[in-house]
Amino acid sequence: MTARIIDGKAIAAELRARVADEVARVKRDHALTPGLAVVLVGHDPASEVYVRSKHTQTQAAGMASFEHKLPEDVSQADLLALIAQLNRDPKVHGILVQLPLPKTLHTETIINAIDPAKDVDGLHPNNAGRLAGGLAALSPCTPLGCIILTKSVHASLEGMNAIVIGRSNLVGRPLVQLLLNENATVTIAHSRSRDLPKLCAQADLVYAAVGKPEMVRGDWLKPGATVIDVGINRIPVDGGKPKLVGDVAFQEALGVAGAITPVPGGVGQMTVACLLVNTLRAACAIAGLPAPAV
Ligand code: NDP
Repeated sequence: MTARIIDGKAIAAELRARVADEVARVKRDHALTPGLAVVLVGHDPASEVYVRSKHTQTQAAGMASFEHKLPEDVSQADLLALIAQLNRDPKVHGILVQLPLPKTLHTETIINAIDPAKDVDGLHPNNAGRLAGGLAALSPCTPLGCIILTKSVHASLEGMNAIVIGRSNLVGRPLVQLLLNENATVTIAHSRSRDLPKLCAQADLVYAAVGKPEMVRGDWLKPGATVIDVGINRIPVDGGKPKLVGDVAFQEALGVAGAITPVPGGVGQMTVACLLVNTLRAACAIAGLPAPAV
């Protein structure tokens, strides 16, 4: 058996096209142009790539994109003042502060300063708490993308056994809540979990969000499982560009899983597409319009 490869690139492109259609509609019918502000502090090369991609894709969807690049040594007070200004700006419906921030800044204080209605990364405690309480919330983009990719394989996740490996606020924890909303039965594993292979063997759905190259082996998987690999690990290559690998041993998993996301070309593609979805949703909610059809 060879697993079906879930084409994150194509699914993300289709989602971006649906967002662009809805953006065109709210512009035409309500004179509303959704706007996303991205704040980048310093010069982390991976962050610069992500921010560039967010800017390009936001504009391609017909939204307004506002980039704020601040020096590495910006003070916490100046960053908080910028966030306060973006909170007040009626042209801005989504605010994203690119993480990680330099160590001199207190990430929690910065995230807490974002207006929860504009918190398109879904990291503000109001949104995280609402999601955990089963209430409507802006949810983190990567877990949203994971659910959409899973649903490209299974129309309903009801009653399925899912394992989420990793419990970060950015990926693992919100993913668990979204899976519960889909009526899956969820196990959450982390660095202190015992016998991970045995836990994985029960799972119809496996989500790996660890940050350890190829940690999940093919023989851990239940035959036919759907595997969503969130990991992005850069492996140095002699004299060349680093190779990207996920948290799952892809070649091994191909022979056991029913469906699997590749790295790159899987979850990573969905994250920015879901950021556009969240910005559109936030813009409609702030303007008092019904939720968009995406
Ligand atoms: P974090 O480092 O914040 O969290 C990693 C989690 O993995 C922790 O909960 C940790 O457990 C757990 N873990 C570590 N080692 C093990 C182990 N040996 N066995 C089981 N669990 C373990 O990472 P993120 O959640 O931010 O990111 C995870 C991965 O996803 C990274 O590779 C990152 O690059 C990628 N990523 C990809 C995105 C995309 O768009 N595709 C977006 C965001 C992240 P504990 O809590 O006990 O320490």
